[in-house]
Amino acid sequence: MHRPLIAIVGRPNVGKSSLFNRLVGANLAIVQDQPGVTRDRHYGSSHIAGHEVIVVDTGGFDPQSEDPMQMGIAQQVRLALEEASVIVCLLDGITPPLPADYEAIQLLREQTKPVLYVANKIDSPKQALGFSDLYSLGIDKIYPVSALHGHGMSDLEVALGKIIPKRETEAFPKLEDVPYVSLLGKPNAGKSSLLNRLLGHEQQLVDSRPGTTVDAIDTLIEKRGQQYVFIDTAGLRKKSSKKDTIESASVFQAIRTLERSDVAVLLIDATLGVVEQDSKIASLIEDRGCALVIGLNKVDLLGREERKKAIRDIRDALAFLAWAPIVELSAKEGRGTNKLLDTARHAYLEHNKRVGTAELNRFFEKVLAHHPPPTTGSRAVRLYYVTQAQTRPPAFVAITNRPKDVHFSYQRYVKNQIRKHFGFEGTPIRVYYRPKKK
Ligand code: GDP
Ligand code: GDP
Repeated sequence: MHRPLIAIVGRPNVGKSSLFNRLVGANLAIVQDQPGVTRDRHYGSSHIAGHEVIVVDTGGFDPQSEDPMQMGIAQQVRLALEEASVIVCLLDGITPPLPADYEAIQLLREQTKPVLYVANKIDSPKQALGFSDLYSLGIDKIYPVSALHGHGMSDLEVALGKIIPKRETEAFPKLEDVPYVSLLGKPNAGKSSLLNRLLGHEQQLVDSRPGTTVDAIDTLIEKRGQQYVFIDTAGLRKKSSKKDTIESASVFQAIRTLERSDVAVLLIDATLGVVEQDSKIASLIEDRGCALVIGLNKVDLLGREERKKAIRDIRDALAFLAWAPIVELSAKEGRGTNKLLDTARHAYLEHNKRVGTAELNRFFEKVLAHHPPPTTGSRAVRLYYVTQAQTRPPAFVAITNRPKDVHFSYQRYVKNQIRKHFGFEGTPIRVYYRPKKK
């Protein structure tokens, strides 16, 4: 599935994160079923006017620092223009425009993506008169809202509904039964080098869409009788300009790219080990539910012992991804690429794997007999049966009398047992606890 992305841009303090919370709201409260996963609060999925979308608070996207001024408005807008389908330019409706507002509007005017201009902090109709100041910026239509109180939100959502593109997959159908693989990682991890290595000469473009919302080129390759589509996000191959080294860009781009990926390859620079960027992208992948292979790149620069240590360090730093295989690579020397493709294919199959209900319950009975759920509170927790409700990623539903009382450590135990019996290497899995239907 490929959901349109709505980016909120605006200078600090106009209320971007408040508007983001309004738009995404309840969806952020999704139960966190993994410890140690840093959930990013700056993006989330939502339903707006009948569309399933992702909303991103671009201003919150500076992983480098706590200071929101750090990422200038120009960079925010640039990121949004590259990755988003629709842009919401948020302005402060109760204070006169600042230079940063003019700068954002100027940049947005020079392009053709759909933009809505929104004046925030219009908490009462009286204030609505005040925001006319903003019309001096030369915008024809400004939507007044109060992110704090919710005023104006329904008009804004209707307006968004009119300009959100239909799901982009409809325009670009995916090839069936071929894994879509993306290469992610921070700047200089070696993504372009690896992509060039993998593509070699025998490449075939399956989908070229310059100038559309996702300026991506997908490439179909066939290696040893197996096909793969590599998703190339903007700039990976044509990369030359300095702008590609902006760190926040790689996280933002990952959100976009993961929408289209079955398997993500997270490239880690072996000479640096896991840095914060890597953990961030890793939790995005887990969150999104894509299959994952960790590529330890540049191993040509390490000795044998250093390589072992690098792998141990990855396991420590990304403990929540214990299920993700690690492949040692040298994009420079071409080492590990066959192994990477095989591992990606295996992860893809596991991501799509379905375990039958009968088999699952035979296993489940053994688990229960061996280690029943501990009693929390006064009544015993009972688990009745389990089914696999979904694939991509595999999701299981366990029926219980007390969904809220299944202790976290027991949930982890169940997950571990499922992996132990059925594998699922390379894919996240989910287990949901639901009450019996009356
Ligand atoms: P950001 O820096 O753009 O993400 O802005 P925030 O969402 O953090 O909001 C900045 C400040 O404006 C906070 O103190 C908010 O409580 C306040 N604020 C946000 N939306 C509204 C609103 O609709 N009305 C009023 N009165 N204050 C708001
Ligand atoms: P990207 O920003 O992730 O696309 O990274 P690039 O592919 O542009 O690589 C960044 C730098 O790392 C370049 O100078 C590459 O030559 C170098 N590089 C990439 N892969 C390897 C590798 O496996 N070994 C070594 N020694 N250098 C590499």
